Amino acid sequence: MSLNPKGLWKYFYELTKIPRPSEHEQGVIEFLKNFAITNNLEYIIDEAGNVIIRKEATEGMKDCKGVILQSHMDMVPQCNSDKKHDFKTDPIEAYIDGEWVKANGTTLGADNGIGLAATLAILEDKNIQHGPIEALFTRDEEAGMTGARQLKPEILKGDILLNLDSEDEGQLFIGCAGGIDVSTFIRFDKDVRIQNDKYYRIAITGLKGGHSGVDINLGRANANKLMFRVLYYLLRNYNVDVLSLNGGTLRNAIPREAFMEVGLRDFQLKQFFDILKKFEDVFKKQYTGIEDNITITVTEIDPGDPPIAIDKNNLYKAVRMGLALPHGVHKMSNDMENLVETSCNLATVKTYDVTISINLMVRSADKWFLNELLSVIESPIALAQATYNYAGEYPGWKPNQESPILGIMKDIYKNKFGKTPEVTAIHAGLECGIFTVNYPHLDMISFGPTIRYPHSPDEKVEIKSVEKFWDYLVETLKNIPKK
Ligand SMILES: [Zn+2]
Repeated sequence: MSLNPKGLWKYFYELTKIPRPSEHEQGVIEFLKNFAITNNLEYIIDEAGNVIIRKEATEGMKDCKGVILQSHMDMVPQCNSDKKHDFKTDPIEAYIDGEWVKANGTTLGADNGIGLAATLAILEDKNIQHGPIEALFTRDEEAGMTGARQLKPEILKGDILLNLDSEDEGQLFIGCAGGIDVSTFIRFDKDVRIQNDKYYRIAITGLKGGHSGVDINLGRANANKLMFRVLYYLLRNYNVDVLSLNGGTLRNAIPREAFMEVGLRDFQLKQFFDILKKFEDVFKKQYTGIEDNITITVTEIDPGDPPIAIDKNNLYKAVRMGLALPHGVHKMSNDMENLVETSCNLATVKTYDVTISINLMVRSADKWFLNELLSVIESPIALAQATYNYAGEYPGWKPNQESPILGIMKDIYKNKFGKTPEVTAIHAGLECGIFTVNYPHLDMISFGPTIRYPHSPDEKVEIKSVEKFWDYLVETLKNIPKK
């Protein structure tokens, strides 16, 4: 490759040859260790598998504040269905396509390979001026932020942390949301005395879905919510028997599809089909301009022998709880325009054995507002006499407009590129939120080159934004203030 800056692209290419899906980072850990040894740099591999490499300040910069350059070493393994690729052994086939670098049928790993490569290029370089540097390469960001979570206090000495894991050149991120998973459970009795003539599977499909954090303010429909509305109507008006209800697939995705299995008597059928058509029309009208493809389809099914339904008492509890549980934006930020501060995704509904489980993902940049929303959520859970648990909590990072490094980087950007960078925050998790726990003193910022379609086989990184990102990073290091 003949791209600039040469050092960065050299290491990016090296990294494409090292398989590094989340939770399988051994190869890249080894590579980083050998890099440190070759370049005579001090390194630590901690118990979590994070790699820390230290480089001393250059001439005259010894009194500067210490800078932590942070990126994550893993990547999301996604490939096209027609592509044969083993992420644990095969290299990524990167290529240049006009203004972009892409991969052949797989994720590229520019998220966060560019951050890694930039850091290695700086560690190796002999001419760039900088104060004391610690490079922090975290493990398993994409699957569970395991490396960041398990990073012990007092390993890092630096005062400023530059997270190189953002995807829009020209934007500076100064905050992120924390989150928590809520799982609820309603146990039911199996009702085998039901008598119906026909059994159907009702599918609500065609919704857009999206990321449960960054897309939560777009007003998109939630397939689970639509399902609860339809079920409530069918229960109240036709007293249908329900065999199962299921919707959504992932905690962090707005549910796109939901399915329910119901039994009816012959005389109810015409009204049943009419009302489902009516619901489809109502949903289309309600979400005009946002969701144009909501579809309700009905297929006859074999219910098994004997058919087993969910007892009505507990079914009502589950449906009412589902209707009452929140979904969407709970509160916008007071610190920053157009930023969601607190939200909830009513993510998945599952029926298994004798349990209906409804699961939510709650996000907030502020712990108090998160707790407020959790109390809102606990109320219908208590009224429905359901059980619940919390899991996977991680903290947010509250925006600080007065951050010294923000001031410095805004000035540098303006001087260098002739315009003010956009200062923003993200309603999703970043490792920075987790660092606030063990390293509350850190002055942090997140920035990066322009990457499009990360986490998908269409992932690509814009070449000229990489050069800008590099120049900006180098200039920032030169301008770190004294202690
Ligand atoms: Zn990333």
